[in-house]
Amino acid sequence: MTTDIIYHDYFIKHKMSVGHPERPERLQTALSEIRQSPVFDGETIRLIEAREAPLDEVISLHSNEYLLSLKSMSERGGGFFTLDTSVNRFTYKAALFAAGGGLVAVDRVLDGISENAFVLCRPPGHHAEYDRAFGFCFINNVAVAANHLVRRRQLKRVVIIDYDAHHGNGTQNAFYSSDEVLYIGLHQDGRTLFPGSGFVDEMGRGKGYGYTVNIPMYPGAGHTSYRHAFEDVILPLVASFRPQFVLASVGFDCHFEDPLTNLGLTLDDISMMNNYLCEIASNYADGHLVAFLEGGYNLDVVGQASRDLVERFAGTRPQSHREEYRESKTCIDYVLATIESVKDRQEGILL
Ligand SMILES: [Zn+2]
Repeated sequence: MTTDIIYHDYFIKHKMSVGHPERPERLQTALSEIRQSPVFDGETIRLIEAREAPLDEVISLHSNEYLLSLKSMSERGGGFFTLDTSVNRFTYKAALFAAGGGLVAVDRVLDGISENAFVLCRPPGHHAEYDRAFGFCFINNVAVAANHLVRRRQLKRVVIIDYDAHHGNGTQNAFYSSDEVLYIGLHQDGRTLFPGSGFVDEMGRGKGYGYTVNIPMYPGAGHTSYRHAFEDVILPLVASFRPQFVLASVGFDCHFEDPLTNLGLTLDDISMMNNYLCEIASNYADGHLVAFLEGGYNLDVVGQASRDLVERFAGTRPQSHREEYRESKTCIDYVLATIESVKDRQEGILL
């Protein structure tokens, strides 16, 4: 069995304004690090080309009117949706290839061609809303894949675990009324970081109530806080939900040296979270696991963390980086209280 890396050259043709942190070098650095790994031996890992997502797979997640505006802005040569989310002439196609890359990945895993996959894509997707581009995102890649698994492949239970430092507002909203897709977001508290959402009382609606789980992290949260979040809440939740497929939004901006955020994870802590993802997939989902690159703006971190993720997905143990970061007791206490609040709210639903 192998690990797929899904990629397309269109991913680096999409560019925003000069000096923008969400830049093509993020993927180039990641690919060059992955190529230096001993697991990149031509057998354990396969580099697979993404294909464009068919529009009918995207249209249930985004309005036709919005997609047309994205297409025409891109065809005109570019423009701005918000001050920090802009389009060039390749953006529309790049976004379709990113979403389509996710479809290629989940189908190959579900059909037993590969064991798991990393969609190494740009633009990212988890902030994209039904009718607007937002937070460097245009089409919600992970949501398109989850929707495909439920609607086209008839799965009943898909979990999305989003550990990007920012709340995955678009993903949450796409499945807010669904009990077939469990969204679990671990992110820096919305009172201190874009997009300002993802609080514990955002839990879903109707039959989806309880199937949106937000664990906002105090600024500075690191190893102990995240370990508690997985051990005390996420593992019990997935044991109850029993996902048939695990999707992950991985954002390496949760690292303590990311320039845009204020969390406290090291590269080894990010590997710890990847271990949990693999463990959840193998315990409940026959190993079915696909991760999507979201954010991460320190190039060295994006490179190393991508390599570590691929090494873990391929069944090996990434080397330790021995970085030093100590989170404060205040921070741990605050996160433990948040975790208790999440558990109380889930009592009688999934816990
Ligand atoms: Zn982010």
